Amino acid sequence: MRSIFVSLILIFSFKLTAGERKLTAAEEKKVHAILAELIDSTHSSLRKPRLKIKLHTIDNPAYFFESNFGVGRALLGMKRYKIGVNPLVFDKNIPDDALKGVLAHELIHTEDYASGNTFNTLIPIGIAVLKSKTKIQYERKTDLKVILKGLEKELIAYKNWQYPLLNPNDLRTKKKEYLTPEEIRLIVELRDTHPEVLKEWLNYKIPLDIDGVELALISKKRLFANHLFDMKLTKEFSQKKRGQKFILELKSLKQKFIGCTLKAIPYSKKGHNFDEARIFKLNEIDTKKSVRAWMSFKGKMKGVDFILKSCEGQNSLFIKGFPNL
Ligand SMILES: [Zn+2]
Repeated sequence: MRSIFVSLILIFSFKLTAGERKLTAAEEKKVHAILAELIDSTHSSLRKPRLKIKLHTIDNPAYFFESNFGVGRALLGMKRYKIGVNPLVFDKNIPDDALKGVLAHELIHTEDYASGNTFNTLIPIGIAVLKSKTKIQYERKTDLKVILKGLEKELIAYKNWQYPLLNPNDLRTKKKEYLTPEEIRLIVELRDTHPEVLKEWLNYKIPLDIDGVELALISKKRLFANHLFDMKLTKEFSQKKRGQKFILELKSLKQKFIGCTLKAIPYSKKGHNFDEARIFKLNEIDTKKSVRAWMSFKGKMKGVDFILKSCEGQNSLFIKGFPNL
């Protein structure tokens, strides 16, 4: 699930581990058949004359799949693309629907590469995947596009097959860089009820964990909890470069909330900025005394929304922050 620029770096460090088996003819045939099926249905932008996708074997045990393009694509604008498959996935009995899910993800990268020229597409993507923050945005948005194409079951099947094969460290990384099955299920609910939210994510920033996804869902369901709290948000100082600093004071009006986690997600006029979210462990939100928390955010924020989670005996609560800070 990586793209060319990462692979260029990795070629040198892993070339020596080569020597594992190649894809068999039957395996290649299977992958080609699924690619053809996808291009015929959900990825029809790739149905172009002279567009060719070549398969190759990945011999690095750290990766299962990748999407690339040929040198002719970058230099001459030729429609030559590559999908890499690690034969290991067949040794580990990848189910057909899981294979379809991951190939749908890889083909979205191919659609990206095919959608513009070297300067307005390939280079910006290359720069994006070099930085962890923007790489995560790019990969999560790619998974989101798979859901928008209606292939969420296949994508979940892929994760369910993949997760047990990963060590705890790699699993944590995958869950951070790509959507998890839990996130996918909530996103499907949003897709079917409030698709405009997903459009906003694609244009700006996609949530980095399930909290952000849940925040969108409960705010759209208008499950506001503002009436349960007395909240004060005071702006401390604002400096263009260093961002804005706030003090939050939160007091419960009706009951004690025990063991809560409060997540603050600021928003600008473009949408929620999940990169700048802050998380607070609040042991107790009391009816008598306010809890205080310091927050600072970079950039120009219009307001802050809050998701209050894990309170004893309580579903997640949405607290609408104050506009025009
Ligand atoms: Zn990917």
